[in-house]
Amino acid sequence: MPRNPERPKQTKGKAKHVRPSASPARFSEEPVVLRARIAAAEESLKILSGPPAAIRTIDLARRINDLTDRSIRQIHEDCEDGHEIACQSGCTYCCMVPVAASTPEVLAIANYVRESFDAERKVALDRRVEINISATAGMDMDQRDRVRLDCPFLEEGQCAVYEVRPIACRGYSSYSVEDCREDYEHPGTGVEGHTNTLRELVFGAIREGLAVACKSTSVEYRLLELVRAYKIASKDSTLTETWRSRPEAFETATGESVFPGPWSAELDQEFEEVYRETVHDLKMRKRST
Ligand code: SF4
Repeated sequence: MPRNPERPKQTKGKAKHVRPSASPARFSEEPVVLRARIAAAEESLKILSGPPAAIRTIDLARRINDLTDRSIRQIHEDCEDGHEIACQSGCTYCCMVPVAASTPEVLAIANYVRESFDAERKVALDRRVEINISATAGMDMDQRDRVRLDCPFLEEGQCAVYEVRPIACRGYSSYSVEDCREDYEHPGTGVEGHTNTLRELVFGAIREGLAVACKSTSVEYRLLELVRAYKIASKDSTLTETWRSRPEAFETATGESVFPGPWSAELDQEFEEVYRETVHDLKMRKRST
């Protein structure tokens, strides 16, 4: 997904990048991308304008995940580009790059683990989380781009939190397992993955819509590095309810503090533009209804 011409090419790393997402080539945005962003922002605002409650946080993540799944289905129904999705259960090439997720997504994953994992699985997961964090400690984004590490949520080649997996994981797809293998074998060398670009734009737009709603209601809107953020969320179950009044809670898991890199200022600026435009669009829509 060519978000930025000078950015190193990588397959899922781009899709799941830990920077705030921003649309590539905004000048050519398709209506479906704009609609997805607005729908995510409106859906999120409905919940964020109500009182804080754990159940609302989980509901917010569920609605955004549902919107992502529905939008992706629609894209594949409408778009006949002659390619087949190569992704299959058990293929984990794309589960080895850093994943970016919003706070509600992370809290929903921690809640899911709390409710559905037994003690043994939780201990094993915590161990994998620690291994992953130690292995990536002190890396900048370029260094992280050059290593492939199993996501701690992988259990025997399957995603153990599949039902609540992040938007980035839902959105990512590949038309070529050979590309994914090539990226895995030669990480950080600019292997270009072939994928459905519209699908990637739409999931990025949904993530942006959620971030716009979070920012406009003054709650944590930045993308977090999944593993470190999960660790924070798993240690403090009260966050599912209180995160909206604790903006510092995930500070050590934000993309920039985890993997500093050369692109953050540019992407921050792009997100500010997305934010301004989306808030403007939301106001216009409100006026016209
Ligand atoms: S959360 Fe699940 S789908 Fe996403 S990278 Fe980890 S194992 Fe893969």
